[in-house]
Amino acid sequence: MNLHEYQAKALFAAYNIPTPKGKMINGMTQLSAALEEVASERWVVKAQIHAGARGKAGGVKLVDSKEEAKEVAEKMLGSSLATVQTAGKALPIHSLLIEETLAIQDELYLSLVVDRITKTYTFVLSASGGMDIEAVAEATPEKIFSVHVDLAVGLMPYQVREVAFALGLKGTAFKQLMTVMKGLYQLALDKDISLLEINPLIVTEDNNLVALDAKINIDSNALYRQSELVQMRDASQEDEREAKAADNQLNYIALEGDIGCMVNGAGLAMATMDLIQLNGGNPANFLDVGGGATPERVAEAFKLILSSSEVKSILVNIFGGIVRCDLIAEGIIQAVKEVGLTIPVVVRLEGTNVELGKEILANSDVSIITADGLADAAQKVVEVAKTGVTS
Ligand code: GDP
Ligand code: MN
Repeated sequence: MNLHEYQAKALFAAYNIPTPKGKMINGMTQLSAALEEVASERWVVKAQIHAGARGKAGGVKLVDSKEEAKEVAEKMLGSSLATVQTAGKALPIHSLLIEETLAIQDELYLSLVVDRITKTYTFVLSASGGMDIEAVAEATPEKIFSVHVDLAVGLMPYQVREVAFALGLKGTAFKQLMTVMKGLYQLALDKDISLLEINPLIVTEDNNLVALDAKINIDSNALYRQSELVQMRDASQEDEREAKAADNQLNYIALEGDIGCMVNGAGLAMATMDLIQLNGGNPANFLDVGGGATPERVAEAFKLILSSSEVKSILVNIFGGIVRCDLIAEGIIQAVKEVGLTIPVVVRLEGTNVELGKEILANSDVSIITADGLADAAQKVVEVAKTGVTS
């Protein structure tokens, strides 16, 4: 789950990480009070969307007067913004962050990620912040520094000193890096953060470190114990279908192909997609309906799959371990009727009461193609996607 910049900065402030003075608004009536509260000569008006690279796309504007702030805010609020990070879509702007401007000396880059290879939380820092960090890593890898934090020991002061030297920090800013990195590390641990990025982390003209931008990604698997963060979710920023799937405890990811897949278990779903490819087909989605595939969830899953107009056939591949195959068969029939399906559906069932399940499908009045084994199912579904023949 992603947070907005203003939410991330509120968390930063709670962990002693310096941020610019700022105020979030979600309506024009709040603007003048916000400008008063954030006393400054000039302000920055920042569109709050779940994506970066807003600056280049016109979502971060410096304004010199209250009149200009009003003009800019009026244009931004209620509109939408596409950046190079939004995959061709525009995200709605429902809120703005009004901030004081600061005099920038240097723009640094700082991030903290879960590093699965070293099994540590890893800080990545660079003196070349504010720009595309991937480009910096490619062209000048020597400008990137990594700090691996051993979870058993925690962040050691010498690690911070080393990187502060490498970044060329001095005086106050040098000392502040300790506060910033310690705070971020504790914040990441407390809030189950999988990725955190400050780009730029600035050195001001009076040599203070300030987090000018803030991006936080929370590990969704930990949301059950992060009720405070769950309140911060903004579904308007998420892929509609993926958000709907999450609401129904389905794992759904849209893909480019034309064969819809409904599978229980992520591993089986991956194998199913592989076999479809192997037979010359292309999966339209990844969909894991989970262990307890109830008729209601199967129906929701069908609706999700059909929300993509590209889908020409559907493969249902369910292993009835916890749920019995006869119940799944009834769920499929019910769902097919409810949704009013017109494209061919191939079903492969395996597990408890499989014979009974197949019998129920065969005797039903909906046209379903049954398959024996995964290879057979994949072959059949690719075939009917091409021919459109339902029996
Ligand atoms: P992003 O484009 O979505 O990553 O948005 P950022 O929050 O990083 O802002 C983009 C750029 O706006 C920054 O890299 C800065 O150069 C500039 N900017 C933001 N706030 C200020 C400020 O207070 N003063 C100045 N001079 N520039 C700012
Ligand atoms: Mn940024």
